Amino acid sequence: MSEKFVLATHNPGKLAEMREILSKLGVEVISPAEAGVTVEVEETGSTFAENAMLKARAICAAAGLPAIADDSGLCVDALNGGPGVYSARYGGEGLDDRGRCMLLLNGLRGQTTRAAHFSCAVACAFPKGDTLEAEGRCDGAIAFAPMGTGGFGYDPVFLLPGKGKTFGQLSPEEKSAVSHRGKALAAFAEKLEAYLKK
Ligand code: IMP
Repeated sequence: MSEKFVLATHNPGKLAEMREILSKLGVEVISPAEAGVTVEVEETGSTFAENAMLKARAICAAAGLPAIADDSGLCVDALNGGPGVYSARYGGEGLDDRGRCMLLLNGLRGQTTRAAHFSCAVACAFPKGDTLEAEGRCDGAIAFAPMGTGGFGYDPVFLLPGKGKTFGQLSPEEKSAVSHRGKALAAFAEKLEAYLKK
């Protein structure tokens, strides 16, 4: 029998990615809507791991099922690690992805230190109180101009120096193979597999 987990996201892309990875473990991932819950969780944590766990615990409590959540963002060395946990809200509510990319590029104008990384934390909470956590990181640099139209968020300005391409120029499969989220999900799948065997 397959185990049901709620994935605390409204993002269909993340749901599909998680379904694909976890189906190999006999785990079925459903959306909060499919679980009959609507919980808006405020991301008040100061780290990605804290925010992921806040979301996982809240959805688990509401649905009475194990819940998985992730939290991620872009950390830029020249901005002392910012926008970090504020990546989605960088520049305020009025900006879209493109606006946030341009704000970042403008803020780094003349700056030669371009190093940056994406981080992703995945957390899982079980109704009986157990929790699992995993993290992934992808190192790169902020480009001098947007390149590529793939992906979302900061993908067009996040350069992988080894590939000479931004995330926005990679296919979804190429991105998942090296991305913070791909790595965090792979590490999480290993931990979950070990947990489910216990
Ligand atoms: P969240 O994890 O859904 O809260 O996303 C946080 C924010 O970080 C997103 O809205 C994006 O701006 C940024 N972000 C996280 N992961 C990625 C990625 O893989 N590519 C581009 N931007 C990302």
